[in-house]
Amino acid sequence: MLDSQTDEIKAKLSVEEVLSGYMQMQRAGRNFKAKCPFHNEKTPSFMISPERQSWHCFGCNEGGDIFSFIMKIEGLEFYEALKLLAERAGVQIKNQNPAQDGKKRNIFEIVEMSRKFFEECLKIKNGKIALQYLQDRGLTSDIIEKFQLGYAPDSWDLLSNFLKKKGFSEIDIAATGMTVKKDRGGYYDRFRNRIMFPINNIGGQTIGFSSRVMPGGDESQAKYINTPETLIYNKGRVLYGLDKAKTEIRQKDLCIMVEGNMDVIASFQAGVENVVATSGTALTEEQIRIIKRYTKNIAFSFDMDSAGIKAANRGIEMALAEDVSVSIITVPEGKDPADCVKNNPKLWEEAVRNPKLIMEFYFDSVFAKYDVENIEGKKKIADELLRIIGKMSNSIDRGVYRGMLSDKLGLDEDIIFEYENKIKREKAGFSNNREFDRDKVTSSRENQLQERILGFIILYPQYFQELFFDLEDYISHEKISKIYKLIRNLYLEENKLNDAILAELNRDISLQGKVEEQNGSLTHLWNVVALAVEEKIDEIADIHKEAKTCVINLKKIKLKEKLKELEVKMKDGATQEDIEKFDKLYKELNSIDIE
Ligand SMILES: [Zn+2]
Repeated sequence: MLDSQTDEIKAKLSVEEVLSGYMQMQRAGRNFKAKCPFHNEKTPSFMISPERQSWHCFGCNEGGDIFSFIMKIEGLEFYEALKLLAERAGVQIKNQNPAQDGKKRNIFEIVEMSRKFFEECLKIKNGKIALQYLQDRGLTSDIIEKFQLGYAPDSWDLLSNFLKKKGFSEIDIAATGMTVKKDRGGYYDRFRNRIMFPINNIGGQTIGFSSRVMPGGDESQAKYINTPETLIYNKGRVLYGLDKAKTEIRQKDLCIMVEGNMDVIASFQAGVENVVATSGTALTEEQIRIIKRYTKNIAFSFDMDSAGIKAANRGIEMALAEDVSVSIITVPEGKDPADCVKNNPKLWEEAVRNPKLIMEFYFDSVFAKYDVENIEGKKKIADELLRIIGKMSNSIDRGVYRGMLSDKLGLDEDIIFEYENKIKREKAGFSNNREFDRDKVTSSRENQLQERILGFIILYPQYFQELFFDLEDYISHEKISKIYKLIRNLYLEENKLNDAILAELNRDISLQGKVEEQNGSLTHLWNVVALAVEEKIDEIADIHKEAKTCVINLKKIKLKEKLKELEVKMKDGATQEDIEKFDKLYKELNSIDIE
């Protein structure tokens, strides 16, 4: 059902129409070119293909269709992007599961109603004590209102009675996590005599709460209690404050990660609005990926003296693995940003302007911990820093910091490299190390040639018979080979190949992609390789010649590889078959050279 809806929307909204609202486009042959809205660039490398209804940036490697574009630029979930585009296209969205959808809507209403109830309670009776506490922490009424802070009264049933009077059932209320089921039946209010911090989704809808015990209240209770997981609240996915911070995060190209809700609110009050917190959990990979939609830079401002660094460490390692650039903001006065802002907002602003790159921070702290003059010290330093460097997904970063480490330890880089391999082998229990192969494989000339050839096939199907028909043995890249075989089979079936036939095949693969993830990435590859050729098409004087050169070069690489293998084999004694094969390959290579 969803497939037909996305197709219907795509049929009504063209990719150039949707994207033109966000950027200046110029025509470039069959495509459009623009400066990428997702990374900074001077010359445009963002390509839009009306034919394939897709886009791709050759600078930051983002790409997809209109849905992925809207998700990324507006910071929306898929369903929200679908709704937004459906509205523009005038397409009615049918509910996936009406029963569940109805339930979800009810939960949103109950949570929203509870939030308003708590906000009202902050103005009366004991709520005034809570309000006083917030003001004593330095918060203004404006910011208290902006973050919709509230107070849950000291009662077992005030909220649930209020909600029941509004017509909600006990079961629906319990499903929001606002009440807790009693052992003997019935329900009681979960949040009692607490300061309430609503937690919103990216769209700004309240989906749950974080709560703090009242100062001087029942200290035997947990200081912080959060809404449990519900149909709409998944704590591993939510970031406190993101609904308000997202625009500023994109503009500043930096997300500041703090420990507590109060830190977020105080920072906003000080005018620093690109700040979020996790709510009652350690940072998750999912949260990092959500932040990555807005920026690739995260600055942690955790209490770096003790527990904070442990809490931050895992998050930092995950961020590095996601190729996010990480820095540290040290709070100058007081323990946390909230304290700092209360004492002197200017100091927080200043601290934010001067984040320290994470590796600089690690280098400083590890080198301060051990004695670099002695061998054991050197080993300890290398152990700790190489462990972190190894977590980085970017090979250039890894190289830079390895070099820095070798400099500072006064050891040759080869020794460091060898030592790193030793640690890795020990950790992997001598199993072969995949991480090493990865770098080699992805950027090989062979792969580049195969990608380029597939691009030529897609754009110039008329040359298929002449140039590309016999490449089956030469294409080793798994996904490219899959697409190549599909195209080749189609050519054999139809006895011809043209744009229309290929467009149909692309559509089939993309439809299947919705069922099978693997094929989804095939569509992506298809679009990217075609755009990559189109992007530099002006620089190619003779398309036919260029395509042919690619094919020849690929064949040469493969043939040389095979010859080498055979040579090695023949050193241990050659059979007649080997010699014939060698001869054949050699002749083939020669004939190609003549061409
Ligand atoms: Zn880009």
